[in-house]
Formats: sequence, C-alpha cells, structure tokens
Amino acid sequence: MDACIPVTPHLLRERGLPPPEADSKDARGRVLVVAGCLEVPGAILLSAEAALRAGAGKVRIATCRDLAVPVGLAMPEARVLALPQSPDGRVSAEAAGVVIEQARACDAALIGPGMMDDGETSGLVRALLADPPAGALVLDAGAMAALAGDPARTHRLERPAVITPHAGEMARLLGVERSAIEADPLAAAREAAARFRTVTVMKGAQTHIVVPDGEAYLHVAGHAGLATAGSGDVLAGLIAGLLARGTGPGEAALWGVYLHGAAGRRLGLRRRRLPGA
Ligand code: AMP
Ligand code: MG
Repeated sequence: MDACIPVTPHLLRERGLPPPEADSKDARGRVLVVAGCLEVPGAILLSAEAALRAGAGKVRIATCRDLAVPVGLAMPEARVLALPQSPDGRVSAEAAGVVIEQARACDAALIGPGMMDDGETSGLVRALLADPPAGALVLDAGAMAALAGDPARTHRLERPAVITPHAGEMARLLGVERSAIEADPLAAAREAAARFRTVTVMKGAQTHIVVPDGEAYLHVAGHAGLATAGSGDVLAGLIAGLLARGTGPGEAALWGVYLHGAAGRRLGLRRRRLPGA
C-alpha cells in the first residue's frame, strides 16, 4: 500500500500522451483562470501563460476589477473579465455568478493562484462547487481552503478535479499541524484524495500524486530552483492547460508535475552556468 509508482518518461509514454494538438484554437481547449488580488497580481500571468504553453488554445482570465486592464495589457492574447472586488482589493464572493457562467464556457477552470484563503475566496469556490461546470477544475492556493473549514459537510469534488497543496496548505486542508504533513506527505496525499475524491498533488522537494482510487505516484526529479515564489502558479497553469486539451485529471497531474520539474531543472542548470551565478 505504501509503494509509489515513480513518475518517469517511461511511465508517461505508457500511460499515453495528451491528445495531439488540434489545428484550431477552439479544438485545443479553453481555460478559465480565476486568480490574483491587488497584493499578488503577477500569479495571474504565470498561471495563464503556463496554461497556453501546455497547449490550450485560448485563455480567459477573471480577476478583481482594478487588475483587469493592466493584466489584459500585460497578456494581450487573453480575454479578461473584471470581477466584483472587495474593499481590500480581492475578488469578492459576489463574483460567483460570473465565474460559474464563464467556467461553463470553458473546458477547464483553474481557481486560486494569488488569491487569499479568506471568506470571499471560499464563498466563491463553494458556490462554484454547488453548481459545477462540466469541465475539469484545478483548485490551487487560496481556493483550497473552501474544501476545509466547513464543518457542515466535507466537500467531495466527485468530478474531474486536481488540487495542488504544498505542506502548509495541506495542513490547513486536513486540519493538522504542518509538521505532521512533512513527516508523512504520502499519507496526507492519500487522505486528501480519499476525503475530497480528487486527484491530489502534494507538492514539495518531492511531489506525491494520488488519484482517488488510491494509486500513488512519486516525482523526485525536480530542481531546488523550483523552490521560488510563483513556481506553484506555473504548475497549476500547466495542469489546467493539459486538462483543457482533453487530458484526464490523473494524466494531467502526472504530465504537469513532470514537465514543471523538467523545465525547472533545465532552467536551474542553465542559471548555474552563468558567469558569477
Ligand atoms: P508553491 O509553493 O505553490 O509555489 O509550489 C512550489 C513548487 O516548487 C511545487 O511544484 C514544488 O513541488 C516545487 N518545489 C519546491 N521546493 C522544491 C525543491 N527543493 N526541489 C524541487 N522542487 C521543489
Ligand atoms: Mg502556490
């Protein structure tokens, strides 16, 4: 039960490549990225760019009102939706109606990069989970708190979905100390995958991926250079982009983690070769 399947190129080849890129942008899939706040605006760009690099055909960004125009100028290929904003510059829970409508028009939706784990974000995510779109969901960063902290019921996603917690976020999700997660990240990933019925990507120097039926995978081939701000936003965007292309949630998580690790390793090694670096 404790053994993990290593995530290797051989495994990915065996499990099948994501569908080949179609020759129209609509056929390659649309991603909705709900992200950002005035304090953390750049996460939007990292996630949305990664979704396109993963091969999605179109990206729609939904963020708080004051960020919409600057984000659209920074990423001219994106369609940008201005959401209702709380007084402290975050996406307000009142945005739920627009987000639900936009998610329905997309093949995959990513929610959470650069968002705080506050009541506004949780209200928004819970409304979406109560009226979920047909497409796949990725919950990252602030969006995952909506799954925890609701004593009335445990939220079971019961749909194509991926969550991407690091140890601190997993501790909050499961209501335990961070040290307990760090002591046994695989057990935590298994618990979250079973509790929330979702593909769980437990991030760290090593990443454990557990699918809802309990199968567990381990990726160890990253690079310490990935331990940097914004790194997880890129991973979440990659997974969302692969989902939009029609990749299943388990495969999207495995491919996303592998590609993120390979890119990080390549960039980390290149950086080491710079003079004086
Ligand atoms: P986040 O904390 O959300 O920005 O995500 C950080 C990303 O970097 C995750 O994909 C982690 O698995 C990865 N990561 C963090 N530290 C390391 C490390 N020391 N070596 C390799 N990958 C790491
Ligand atoms: Mg993160």
